Amino acid sequence: MLLNLNNKDIEFIRIKYPLLKITPKSPIKIAGTLKFHAIYNDYEIRDSYDITIESIQGRIFPRVVETGNKLKEFAIANGKKLEDMHININDMFSACLCAPIQEKIYEKQNIGVTNFIEKYVVPFFYSQSYYKETQKWAWGEYGHGIVGVLESYLDYSRSEETIVLFLQTLEDYCKKYGSNYNFYLEQLRQKKIKGRNTCPACSSGNRWQKCCIKTLESMRKLKEDIDSLKIKK
Ligand SMILES: [Zn+2]
Repeated sequence: MLLNLNNKDIEFIRIKYPLLKITPKSPIKIAGTLKFHAIYNDYEIRDSYDITIESIQGRIFPRVVETGNKLKEFAIANGKKLEDMHININDMFSACLCAPIQEKIYEKQNIGVTNFIEKYVVPFFYSQSYYKETQKWAWGEYGHGIVGVLESYLDYSRSEETIVLFLQTLEDYCKKYGSNYNFYLEQLRQKKIKGRNTCPACSSGNRWQKCCIKTLESMRKLKEDIDSLKIKK
């Protein structure tokens, strides 16, 4: 889904983010300085980052890159890995704006540029500045790969729609990481998901209950929700 851009969006950006320039022809590209002032949970941040936002043909989620290298420099100066700073090293150092399931939810919504900036881009850069100031992530964080996908389930509302999207995301990630999706489906059919099994979420070989415990909790919650909503497995 490509980003939508209408006259309201153009007006919104011109007023709120005057240092961002829009190339309105399709696919849309926005580049310049994102100068923001945001408050979440009573914590106020004013900061600015040079960025590009690009809508890409054949791809669901727009790509956002911090071109000013502030994040990279911070990571290097503090001995942090870029992946741990939510930067995607396999995709032109783009920003990891949200959990994978959220990308699926986004795909269903077909949102415009204004919402994309306010709901995804500003919170991402806010959280980076927040981390720089406090050494903590503003909203917690998920593990990488399948671990993160599984963990994220605990943070979403349990509607039938989210469950379907969640399972699609898990299947995609299992393919991407060469993991066995059927294992998870089998777990959902068990009477009780056993923590004595080998952890399927990482490659440690440890018992699930001793290893990525949050992913086990997530699967148990998922099973409970599927059973109570009577979704067929
Ligand atoms: Zn594990």
